[in-house]
Amino acid sequence: MNHQNIANIRDRIQQSSSIVIVTHTNPDGDAIGSSLGFYHYLLSLNPAASVKVIVPNEFPSFLKWMPAAEDIMVYQLNENEIIKYIEKAELCLCLDFNSLKRTDKLFPYLEASKAFKILIDHHPQPENDFDVMISSIESSSTSELIYDVISSISGAGALNQDIASCLYVGIMTDTGSFSYSCRRPETYLAVAELIRHNIDSELIHRKIYDTYSENRMRLLGFCLSERLTVLKDFHTAYIYLTKDDLNHFYHQNGDTEGVVNYALSIEGIVLAVLFTEKEDRIRISMRSKGEFNVNEMARKHFNGGGHKNASGGDSFASMSETLIFFESILPEYQDDITKSVN
Ligand code: 5GP
Ligand code: MN
Repeated sequence: MNHQNIANIRDRIQQSSSIVIVTHTNPDGDAIGSSLGFYHYLLSLNPAASVKVIVPNEFPSFLKWMPAAEDIMVYQLNENEIIKYIEKAELCLCLDFNSLKRTDKLFPYLEASKAFKILIDHHPQPENDFDVMISSIESSSTSELIYDVISSISGAGALNQDIASCLYVGIMTDTGSFSYSCRRPETYLAVAELIRHNIDSELIHRKIYDTYSENRMRLLGFCLSERLTVLKDFHTAYIYLTKDDLNHFYHQNGDTEGVVNYALSIEGIVLAVLFTEKEDRIRISMRSKGEFNVNEMARKHFNGGGHKNASGGDSFASMSETLIFFESILPEYQDDITKSVN
């Protein structure tokens, strides 16, 4: 980690009286884990500062037990107050995204803000929207990077149980419980240090993964039995969900989290996609195995992006048109997909 950047970040944190931490729309475990983990640390590094964690829209209920989750300000629910905090912020910490546009409805306010903007993130191809960047695509998660930043500024002794719980959630969820993006020893060294701070990693796992509502579990069953298409020739499986499907199962935020991974766990499948109908768009969630790059596919065809093996995007056509279009582009990728079968 670059010493000059670290010294700059430390000085900015200590010298700012008004700080905002922002993360991407549809915040996931790493977005919330890195933001809350850093929030707890900032409160100890600069107790006099006003620090606010701001998210563009609601986050899943399985993250609401996290320490200080109740302090998170959701733009969707509290627009005017949040705009004021962004306008008066001297420092803006941007976590777990690579382009300000990923903050969705917060974007115009963040773009106009005069705050010094620091990016801490692990997505490829960060944009030039920031004053200082800590960007590392080798890291499992932004939470792992926050661990690195905290230890570089203050040493691992600055961690406490709250910080450790939050960062553990981020690393665990962004690696699919240590099944991908976790080949580096550094990830496990960070986790070892977190575990040393008296966190119950088994309980955390249960709180995140074993808290399905009955409706959510039945929705998953419906996805797999009624909405799954397997295209063997293309080593591709996709699931689609209409608004009616979601309403039928009383869909809550976060209920479709993880659904796409079931499609990917079919033997021989390299590309898995979930299409979800939203108010004004079809939301697309993509996963791949091996070298097949869904970030490129999402960027080229669906106005999106993400990581090599996990990306997202949008379509503004109807569901049926989107599915037809998706199937029509697969031949373009057949060779690359086939190379990743093992
Ligand atoms: P998910 O499928 O879980 O929504 O997203 C998977 C990954 O892709 C996440 O790392 C997320 O940050 C990124 N991602 C999702 N949607 C978009 C998008 O519309 N644009 C970009 N640039 N990245 C996205
Ligand atoms: Mn992440």
